[in-house]
Amino acid sequence: MNATLAPAPAPATIPAHRLTPRNSERLAMGLLVIQPSPFCNINCDYCYLPNRADTRRMDHAVLERVMDKIWASGLAAAPFSLLWHAGEPLAVPIAWYEKAFEIINRHPKAKDYVIHSVQTNGTLVNDAWCEFLNRHQVEVGISLDGPREIHDHHRKTRSGEGTFDKAMRGMECLKRNGVPFGVVTVISDISVDRPDEIYDFYRGHGITGIGFNIEEIEGANRSSSLDRDGAAGRIRSFFKRFHERNKADGFPLNVREFQNAERNILEPGWSSRPDGNYYNQEADPFGMINVDCFGNFSSFSPELLGQPTEKYGSFTFGNLLSGSVFDATGNESFQRVLADIEAGNRKCAETCAFFKYCGGASPSNKYYENGTFDSTETRQCVSTVQIPMQIVLEDLEDELGITATVPPIPRA
Ligand code: SF4
Repeated sequence: MNATLAPAPAPATIPAHRLTPRNSERLAMGLLVIQPSPFCNINCDYCYLPNRADTRRMDHAVLERVMDKIWASGLAAAPFSLLWHAGEPLAVPIAWYEKAFEIINRHPKAKDYVIHSVQTNGTLVNDAWCEFLNRHQVEVGISLDGPREIHDHHRKTRSGEGTFDKAMRGMECLKRNGVPFGVVTVISDISVDRPDEIYDFYRGHGITGIGFNIEEIEGANRSSSLDRDGAAGRIRSFFKRFHERNKADGFPLNVREFQNAERNILEPGWSSRPDGNYYNQEADPFGMINVDCFGNFSSFSPELLGQPTEKYGSFTFGNLLSGSVFDATGNESFQRVLADIEAGNRKCAETCAFFKYCGGASPSNKYYENGTFDSTETRQCVSTVQIPMQIVLEDLEDELGITATVPPIPRA
């Protein structure tokens, strides 16, 4: 899962193989993804969402039941992020959210526990949205791929027009209204060799919080423009140059991947489980719960929500209108997914020097890149875990004048 910029705190968890409804009170949910509608008003060619032309919307009665089930599960045992996503969230009117927030806020814990966030393409942001986002202190991530030519290459409307102007207008509106935001940028074939242009673009537009996603093979996006030999080397060069520029300027940009790497190196254990390993919310059952607009839910990576597969059946593990979150434990697909995620992570722990710092990274990338959760390395983990850590380590070692201890260079 690559949408949000801030990693969640580490809750106490139990080993997944002991997961039963009876002992589930010791689990905790760090992220709740709710899909208000599958619809998106634009049509990026790398999008993983299969039903983005579907304009149906979650009924408020469904939201009410969903939240009742979430609170009743006991999984909301600490503050958690509620991410409105899996479609363009701002394509649903503000009036719908006013009622939705009123429903959520009825629960006495909501004020202290629910941290609302949206990941938006920015094209529909206006003053009214900014007033709403400010009033409810909603954390905002906006998807921007860089300068016009780069952004418009993939991020187009259904009629094929670029969305750069509209997204930039939305971003300027956020700035004018004092809404804090971060930017998520997808690196693809068109941008991977152009770190300087992207760096200058952020600096020129006052963008300071950035997360990079590498164009992924995921869901409806069956191939990546980076599917060719040498991609890892090009991605490494991108990050290296970006880091050099940022360092030369005194680190004005907060880059999620480098911040995570620095924290892993300088504060080992900052997001760790009791066994000392990184807490990987995406690999923990119920660490993330993802609910579609009909109340169907999945766990693990949000990208799996509603995706049919040959190997595992449906990634829908139940419906919160008719059952509870823990009904998933009796679902065959859930148990097979969980068993394979655990098996893949055991292999990661045995074979990869980075396991302590990533906890096995994103299960959805393992599935879509390697065909099974029971696997290890992916382009996503090489790009967003291994390479940033290598660059930060090399930089620290240079500064300290010590012999290199950097783990092996990733495969191309
Ligand atoms: S970096 Fe990749 S291969 Fe290494 S432990 Fe993490 S997921 Fe596994």
